[in-house]
Amino acid sequence: MFIDLNLVEKFRINHEVLCRWVASVKRNYRPVSYHNWRHAFNVCQSCFCMIKTGGLESIFSDYEKLSLLVSCLSHDLDHRGTNNAFQAKIEHPLARLYSTSTMEHHHYNQCLMLLQSEGCEILSHLTSSEYAHVIKLVQHAILSTDLAIYFKKRNEFFNVVKSGAADWLGNDGHRELLR
Ligand SMILES: [Zn+2]
Repeated sequence: MFIDLNLVEKFRINHEVLCRWVASVKRNYRPVSYHNWRHAFNVCQSCFCMIKTGGLESIFSDYEKLSLLVSCLSHDLDHRGTNNAFQAKIEHPLARLYSTSTMEHHHYNQCLMLLQSEGCEILSHLTSSEYAHVIKLVQHAILSTDLAIYFKKRNEFFNVVKSGAADWLGNDGHRELLR
């Protein structure tokens, strides 16, 4: 998927580094029944299919495509199979650290950690401003997977589509909803 979207070439991602990063992401999923590596891979492949067959290849920038694939594979990292309400009720340290979107903040944090791990730095050829841009997109994408946020954004998205005034290229707000 990274090769097909030309991201490996565009961002000069070393093949071995990419493989090591993917293997590390896989290893940091737990063997829970749903939020496991298979789920992350499925989400990534669905996103890839939407980009390839939904006409999004010419709408999203390379930075956005890279961010989306990284986010999809990373969005449930270290999931324990329990939801945010559960973390709050058992007063888990993570719930004290992040009072809202508890698990999503943790997934994002794990994602950042892996991107910065030695030998897994797939973004190492980006300039500091490019890196900051990609990370911001990744953060937004992963935090948006909190269902409490997702359903609100989903409604907004459908309203934009139904209004017939969707402008994916010119309107940053619309584009953000699409991502
Ligand atoms: Zn998920």
